[in-house]
Amino acid sequence: MIIMHIDATQQQITTAVARVEDNGLRAHLIQGEERTVIGVVGDGRKIFKDQFLHLPGVDRVIPISHPYKLASREFIPENSLFPLDGVNVGDNGIVMIAGPCSVESRTQLLETAYAVREAGAHALRGGAYKPRTSPYSFQGLGEAGLEMLAEAREATGMPIVTEIMAPEHVPLLTRYADVLQVGARNMQNYALLNAVGESQHPVLLKRSMMASIDELLMAAEYILSHGNRRVMLCERGIRTFETATRNTTDINAIPVLKSLTHLPVLLDPSHSTGHWEYVTAVARAGIAAGADGLIVEVHVNPSEAKSDGGQSLKPERYAELVSQVRAVSEAVGRSLAPVPLTAASSVGTGES
Ligand code: PEP
Ligand code: MN
Repeated sequence: MIIMHIDATQQQITTAVARVEDNGLRAHLIQGEERTVIGVVGDGRKIFKDQFLHLPGVDRVIPISHPYKLASREFIPENSLFPLDGVNVGDNGIVMIAGPCSVESRTQLLETAYAVREAGAHALRGGAYKPRTSPYSFQGLGEAGLEMLAEAREATGMPIVTEIMAPEHVPLLTRYADVLQVGARNMQNYALLNAVGESQHPVLLKRSMMASIDELLMAAEYILSHGNRRVMLCERGIRTFETATRNTTDINAIPVLKSLTHLPVLLDPSHSTGHWEYVTAVARAGIAAGADGLIVEVHVNPSEAKSDGGQSLKPERYAELVSQVRAVSEAVGRSLAPVPLTAASSVGTGES
């Protein structure tokens, strides 16, 4: 990391960047309020730090100790804010994302969307392309599901978070999604990480059930290394020997990530527990531990859900979760982000 002098000229910055590139490394410019910082990305082990120290306009050169650079708090000490349609994830306000695991029908989606909006959600989740363990399970409605998500956004004003499974889907999904979700199973799909990085579209990156925190941050680094800065991370439970729950919520990961990275950190208590009965308790724990938001599965009729019904909350239970999360967030000096005013809150779906 090359810290330029407060009064460094544009010419001096350009010269320093050119020197970085001459060494076969990449330069990421960070324009601070007072000064410019040049993040040097690549294998800099063989580079003499002195050659930069003596360049005009350079104040200091600080090596970053972690293998991830752009994701690290050493590199960007302040929280990165992730703008999401009127709210900033990573700011003091807690951001709530909710909706069904899968988009199943227009009625199911719209009813759920209105209900979670009324309960205080900021964004709508719902998968149109589903990564299922069995090839015989419901795989999602594909583009028809994306159309329904677009209609739900129109109707409720909520931005859409939906999963992307393949690099070739980038052009289609970026037309519909406000945030591309990279799921646990694809956290180390490097072709996909590169593609969503290049797209410059906002990304929600979920931790793999078998990845260490460092591996999650290295996955984020792939996306960031394309200059895409809008990345938020999500703890969604890891595999352990415990079988009472679907996964084990790694609650430690939340404060650990908050100290290692400037990126916003969310918790998904639905997948991390796998049982609706435990979702609200673990949601409260996540906020107490410092999460910037929650992504929760909600279904109007969980027993009929085509995926993850057992861990989905009914809308009234989600409303209760929101009110409990509000109380916990206030106890830890935060609050729920205000819900931006939108046209609709609870009109009919046009179907019965
Ligand atoms: C999901 O959000 O529905 C999902 C498949 O999550 P994960 O990738 O965390 O398993
Ligand atoms: Mn799910």
